[in-house]
Amino acid sequence: MTASRVLVLNSGSSSVKYQLLDMADRSRLAVGLVERIGEETSRLVHEPLATGGDRREQLGPIADHEAALKAVAAELAADGLGLDSPELAAVGHRVVHGGTRFTAPTVIDDEVLAEIRSLVPLAPLHNPANVTGIEVARALRADIPQVAVFDTAFHATMADHVAQYAIDAEVAERFSVRRYGFHGTSHAYVSRATARLLGKAPEEVNVIVLHLGNGASASAVRGGVCVDTSMGLTPLEGLVMGTRSGDLDPAVIFHLARVGGMSVDEIDSLLNKKSGLLGMCGDNDMREVLRRAGEGDEAAGRAFATYVHRLKKYIGAYTAVLGRVDAVVFTAGVGENAAPVREAAVAGLEELGLALDHRANAERSGEPRLISPEYARVAVAVVPTDEELEIAAQAYELVTR
Ligand code: AMP
Repeated sequence: MTASRVLVLNSGSSSVKYQLLDMADRSRLAVGLVERIGEETSRLVHEPLATGGDRREQLGPIADHEAALKAVAAELAADGLGLDSPELAAVGHRVVHGGTRFTAPTVIDDEVLAEIRSLVPLAPLHNPANVTGIEVARALRADIPQVAVFDTAFHATMADHVAQYAIDAEVAERFSVRRYGFHGTSHAYVSRATARLLGKAPEEVNVIVLHLGNGASASAVRGGVCVDTSMGLTPLEGLVMGTRSGDLDPAVIFHLARVGGMSVDEIDSLLNKKSGLLGMCGDNDMREVLRRAGEGDEAAGRAFATYVHRLKKYIGAYTAVLGRVDAVVFTAGVGENAAPVREAAVAGLEELGLALDHRANAERSGEPRLISPEYARVAVAVVPTDEELEIAAQAYELVTR
């Protein structure tokens, strides 16, 4: 029997999300999450999909990532899916920042781990947690490959003139300042799934992917290759997000420091955690924004309009970048579920070849689907993203090559 299981780990600073997949049939055997690691109120939620058993929940302190992963291993073992199984082929780790070094999934050895650690200054919130997850998983199963799958990798194909900021080249080089892009596994998965939906090969289609979750990013994908994306050095650039501002005049920062007396850390926190929808109207959840806007709440209505305006600008910009667009595709929490956002983003873009089938747009479904009328020159689609499956597929492909 060949080992065909892959454990996917997405380690955050105080959480670990995990999925165990069987790549023989791409099925999910178990999924779960540990949150509030290091607090008294840690919580583990485990869904044993393979056995069809009930969802299990564990409450109580889980001290650190090592304890968290051991608790996950115990849950999996209770389902007969222990991590000591010879059927486990690899562990796939989501790693947020791969810098310019990592442009493809990579089997982790000491040197690779050191390199991921050296990228911490570029992703201070994410890479340290990713490193911890890798260390703990390596200690648990040193004998199987641990594979890093980078959020930045899909965007490594951006041309240098697209990736560079128009600043002093020597300063940019010294401090690794350039556009990297994020959500890469999602953009890769969704752009390919969109080609499939259109009955074409990825090489044949040009797609604008709108990944609209709590974080949000757009990408322009030509023939399966990313040519531009909206996030930059960090995930702060681009679209309006749940709590991030997206694009703004960099001079806002100088102004807030000089005139507002704010520190760099305060401005960092303001723009990353207290801006976007939350900053504009007090809610970062699009469901709440839509509900309030529907009731005539002005701040929520304006926040929605700002969100949509930015989206339209990126659709227009990426239409220009690609020249010919075959599909605009919506994905992630907002993109998959918020019909009013899709409706408003596409409205008035008929000259760009975009149109909506309003009934199809309003229907709820978990399946990839077209929401444009047949006559539309550019297809509009909704494609649920699946970053865990993509990480597992990339890791599995690498270790079975
Ligand atoms: P994600 O980061 O992809 O998990 O997306 C999370 C976001 O999706 C949440 O913050 C919500 O704003 C949004 N979301 C989820 N369900 C809906 C829905 N039914 N309508 C509008 N927004 C939704």
